[in-house]
Amino acid sequence: MGKVSVGLRGWRFDEAEIFTDEGLFKELGEIPLDARQRLIRLVFLVDKPCDACRIQHGEDSIERANQAAAVYGEPDDEVVLCDDHEAEFIYWYQEAGGSEYRGDPDLPEAFYEWFGDGGRSPDEFGAVEHVETDPEELPDPPDGEEIQAKLEEDHEPERIDLSRYADDVTTGKETEMVDDEAVDSLDTEYPTPDE
Ligand SMILES: [Zn+2]
Repeated sequence: MGKVSVGLRGWRFDEAEIFTDEGLFKELGEIPLDARQRLIRLVFLVDKPCDACRIQHGEDSIERANQAAAVYGEPDDEVVLCDDHEAEFIYWYQEAGGSEYRGDPDLPEAFYEWFGDGGRSPDEFGAVEHVETDPEELPDPPDGEEIQAKLEEDHEPERIDLSRYADDVTTGKETEMVDDEAVDSLDTEYPTPDE
């Protein structure tokens, strides 16, 4: 089963969960809760400035921040990063204790603190390699506007109550964890708890 990122790298979706056989976006109600939450959240994140740039340049120079290219963490407790800073997050997560915050709402603050204190990936850590999953076989990747249009079609956006979904998640069935496999694939993607 193929996995695909939507809008930003990082969060991965099972194609079968979000696309119909025709390669179109499913109705939101047909998309599993976790994937739905992430899609809804992505609408707000695709145009956000990079968190690391924000810390580096300060809120007064927000116009110098690069636009988000990747997102890690959980919906509402995520870190968004530009192409330049994605490596800092991956390094922090893999090598500097960040993985302790897997699935933890404190993940963003912990990363901001590390980065704000001058935490950086060493040069030899290198840039992040971006591996696309069978690009030819994927439906056209929907962009933020497409997601937004979809959401507006199904819902009044301001009436989407993410906390309600969060309750469902915490009381719902155990999320399946595939730790070893996820950790093995860490060289290219941050393992989110649902993978
Ligand atoms: Zn940045």
